[in-house]
Amino acid sequence: MTADSALGLLRPHTLDSDDGIRVLNPANGVLVASARRYDVDETAAMIEAADVARREWGARTAKQRSDVLRAWYDLMVAHAEDLALLMTLESGKPLDEARGEVKYGASFIEWFSEEARRAYGEVIPSYATDKRVLTLRQPVGTCAAITPWNFPLAMITRKVAPALAAGCSIIVKPAEATPLSALALETLAHRAGVPEDLFRVAPARKSSAIGELFCTHPLVRKISFTGSTEVGKVIMAKAAGQVKRLSLELGGNAPFIVFDDADLDRAIAGAMASRFRNAGQTCVCANRFLVQAGVYEAFVEKLVAAVAQVRVEDGVANPSGMGPLIDDRAVERVAGLVTQALAQGAMRAGENVAAPAGGAFHPPVVLAEVTEAMAIAGEEIFGPVAPVLRFKDESEALRIANDTPYGLAAYVFTADAARQWRMMEGLEYGMVGVNDGLISTEVAPFGGIKESGFGREGSSHGLADYMNVKYCLVGGL
Ligand code: NAD
Repeated sequence: MTADSALGLLRPHTLDSDDGIRVLNPANGVLVASARRYDVDETAAMIEAADVARREWGARTAKQRSDVLRAWYDLMVAHAEDLALLMTLESGKPLDEARGEVKYGASFIEWFSEEARRAYGEVIPSYATDKRVLTLRQPVGTCAAITPWNFPLAMITRKVAPALAAGCSIIVKPAEATPLSALALETLAHRAGVPEDLFRVAPARKSSAIGELFCTHPLVRKISFTGSTEVGKVIMAKAAGQVKRLSLELGGNAPFIVFDDADLDRAIAGAMASRFRNAGQTCVCANRFLVQAGVYEAFVEKLVAAVAQVRVEDGVANPSGMGPLIDDRAVERVAGLVTQALAQGAMRAGENVAAPAGGAFHPPVVLAEVTEAMAIAGEEIFGPVAPVLRFKDESEALRIANDTPYGLAAYVFTADAARQWRMMEGLEYGMVGVNDGLISTEVAPFGGIKESGFGREGSSHGLADYMNVKYCLVGGL
């Protein structure tokens, strides 16, 4: 595995050193490669070609589509090391985490290669003896996807694999910061036998113009967007003009609730994985720690001790450390939230952890004595900062946890089985982890409620999101 072999996954026509998107390594600011950009007319031509390609693809048997997806999965596994290195170079994510994302991203292709064969309709007991009632499930048509930089590969496979499994075509606009993993994925898909026009990756000259195109082109029947709530709302409003089908995977403000009876070591392990993975730039990561008064001090002490072990470094040099944030702007934003919280009365717990100069690094920070009124408790931090709030009892924990417009993921640590049920039922979130800080998997439906969006990715629900249900009635029997 070398940078040259990783960059070898990119086909020459997808690069453009004169006018492309300059992808910089966030760990050191060095240019990784320049991705070719596509303007509105070029992307519209891709949509039109995709709409032709899907007819032939949709006419294939489910088994034939499944075989192509499986070949794509096999190629991802075969090129896992190069894909991981490319991701580390463009996103800063430490190599071990990047390897994990390649595995996770590939798992969706494997899963949907299997689900492709199980897109069953139904025969419904009829209301009349001379009629039969049935449903067919059919592909929604040509789809468009817009994806973020924090999971440059998995956010794409979660959409493209079910779309292709269902018989759709799809055009993906990747994030400006991380188009290279997306382009490598496209190379492998085409090598596996996915028809070239059926799935294209189109880094944009201007994101908002491509967003507008996706929302207004009559051939696009569904848009799947993963990104901020702010942009999600823009897409939703614009897509209303043609009543397009939408999946919106938006921001979160996950509470991580620790009760007095919790296994504290397990809670700390969950907290470290959930808060500091990807340097805190994960939509489902613990954004606020709500800790019951009886274990508050012990929890903060243990969290500080665990954070002191974190090594902030370039993700290639130290594959298991914590890498940089995506860019300098992100560092400034996170540092600003910390400064503001300290000014509002939060306390910095523990010593400063060293972070290297010369890249977009921010050290991990634990903030104690945080209250609900502070901005840091209400905003998506998207950085390695753990604000810890105190609560008295279960009803207060639930009230604070639900007092947010977001509803993506929530975590609860308690040994009490009855309370586990009450919290699972009472938390207004799309996903709840009990005594575990890592919940994403291809076998389960991932997605939010409230302003975290709607639609589900993964599981059989993920395939259903790319299919229409058609009711048919046969009479005159
Ligand atoms: P972002 O909304 O700024 O960008 C996401 C994508 O939208 C990028 O490809 C960007 O180029 C594009 N975009 C920006 N403006 C646009 C416009 N006007 N029209 C069309 N496209 C536009 O988000 P980000 O900073 O890249 O990603 C971080 C956000 O994504 C966080 O809020 C995070 O919680 C969220 N996220 C959610 C999930 C989930 O599954 N719910 C997963 C990952 C990230």
